[in-house]
Amino acid sequence: MEAKKELLGLQMEEMEELMQSLGEPSFRGRQVYKWIYQKGINSFYEMSDLPKHLRTKLDEHCVISMPRLLKQRVSHDGTRKYLLELKDKKRIESVIIPQSYEKEDKYTLCLSTQVGCPVGCAFCATGKSGFQRNLEAYEIVGQLLSSRRELSRKLRSNAESLITSVVYMGMGEPLLNYDATLKSIHILNEHRGINLGQRHITISTAGEVNGIKRLARENMQITLAVSLHAPNDVLRNKLVPLNRKYNLAVLMDAIEEYMSINNRRVTIEYVLLDQINNSEKEARELISLIKPLNCHVNLIPYNEVKGLPFKRPSRLSIQSFYRILLEAGMPVTLREERGKDIEAACGQLAARKEHKITSAGNSS
Ligand code: SF4
Repeated sequence: MEAKKELLGLQMEEMEELMQSLGEPSFRGRQVYKWIYQKGINSFYEMSDLPKHLRTKLDEHCVISMPRLLKQRVSHDGTRKYLLELKDKKRIESVIIPQSYEKEDKYTLCLSTQVGCPVGCAFCATGKSGFQRNLEAYEIVGQLLSSRRELSRKLRSNAESLITSVVYMGMGEPLLNYDATLKSIHILNEHRGINLGQRHITISTAGEVNGIKRLARENMQITLAVSLHAPNDVLRNKLVPLNRKYNLAVLMDAIEEYMSINNRRVTIEYVLLDQINNSEKEARELISLIKPLNCHVNLIPYNEVKGLPFKRPSRLSIQSFYRILLEAGMPVTLREERGKDIEAACGQLAARKEHKITSAGNSS
């Protein structure tokens, strides 16, 4: 029997063409598109404005495979981590973070682009778990639809307006899965569907220079964040192995090129690891490395991962690193801590098989 056609991940024009290939008018494609991406519906029988014969036909020939929610954990700060299962039973994690403590109506979604990660940063739970495969565009977008549906069910709120920004900072290196990542951004951005503005989308890379150069030429308004984590090659080679392929000089050139083409400031992410990269010496090196580029620096105090030797610096030491940058006139922020108690914070995603609800999080 012929495999059913996957509709999730199709763009508007592809959906219209598919309807024509089924002997239907193309406007039916627009209707199905809205049901999937605006309303998050994955059953053809719920698409009430389609004629009955078409719903039956679609059910025979097509499928909409949203990732299956296996588990969720809820942090005391409102952050939610979702463990999702894909068609081939592989598991990934997505995180939804409230944008303010007061109002639970606007959320940022952190998406994964790979199952595991081939980059293998020394301090990261995902890197430690190894690499299995790239995600398809439909699996990236599916994370938004499944998480959003669950969140709206829990909050009894309209799903369409809940997620107002997306960061590609979950499991995996997005620019090593370039085509699927880009396609998913186009789908998120389409105003007749999910309708998320490009300025509300951030891609985070560990320094995949080829991808940065390609992205620079896409003429998009998204934000690029580069995870630097070390201000010199000796240290960065140890923390971010991708640095052995693209050293800091090459990476800095790529960032400069990106900014000159796009006219958009790049964010530098710097995880603070106790006694590794958080001394005054590293702060000063960081300033001389990136001050000429006028990048924004986001400092991320490390979230400890079981089985890894890295530690979070003391509050005093975090503040002192921050102040050195600030006093040197750098645009710098200290990232607010979210979801640490449920291992949903940066670098803590691993989608472990033994994923359990612990006393730190609440099962739902
Ligand atoms: S920090 Fe990012 S790039 Fe590095 S191993 Fe983890 S997921 Fe991969």
